[in-house]
Amino acid sequence: MWEHLFPPPPTCWFCSSPAGGRFGSGVWERVCAGCRRRLVRIVPPLCRRCGKSLSGQGPALCGDCEGRAGHLDQNRSVVRYNDFAREIVALFKYRGRERLARPLGRMMAEEACKMVPLPDWVTFVPLHPSRLKDRGFNQAELLARIVSAHLNRPLVPLLKRIRPTEPQSQKSRRERLVALRGAFAPAADRKILGKMAGVRVLIVDDVYTTGSTLEECARILKEERVKSVVSVTFAR
Ligand SMILES: [Zn+2]
Ligand SMILES: [Zn+2]
Repeated sequence: MWEHLFPPPPTCWFCSSPAGGRFGSGVWERVCAGCRRRLVRIVPPLCRRCGKSLSGQGPALCGDCEGRAGHLDQNRSVVRYNDFAREIVALFKYRGRERLARPLGRMMAEEACKMVPLPDWVTFVPLHPSRLKDRGFNQAELLARIVSAHLNRPLVPLLKRIRPTEPQSQKSRRERLVALRGAFAPAADRKILGKMAGVRVLIVDDVYTTGSTLEECARILKEERVKSVVSVTFAR
């Protein structure tokens, strides 16, 4: 009968330990001290474009973005892609822990909320239908649903994958960009395509590696005359 007065402390999103002393609604308050230490949050100063952390009061753009034109206007990521972040993403993506979409998506929404101006539409990096059939869900779409709800912006599927791509992990950014050419196409019906001009789009994905997938998606969207394309990922 006392449970209502003294509810058990909530458990951590990522492990089964108690999430700590404080009760609150913030998504990070449900991460235990141990997991917080293992997740390295990406904090300013950041590269204005790709969101990489910069040391000290350095230049506004990182070495990768300096002098490079691109279609992706801005990216923000929540944590560094270290071993622990990799473990969390793998649990979510390959081992059926779909409910992790909620905390990860909320953490990503917190980052996206800082973007000025806020994007108009939320979309996601699509999977090829054969991959979608194997996995059963698209992790980027699940995250995008949460982000869209928290930003109060519509979720609009704007892209489709028309060609499956080989694993990209051993390739450089330039090689990836070449390999990705022709992998995506606009997915929306004519009615939506007709409304895309001037819209600010946010693309959601789980991990930013070299940024080449998001760059290619941004290129396709800009061909449809959207005004700007930004992205948010959980890790990078
Ligand atoms: Zn934990
Ligand atoms: Zn950069």
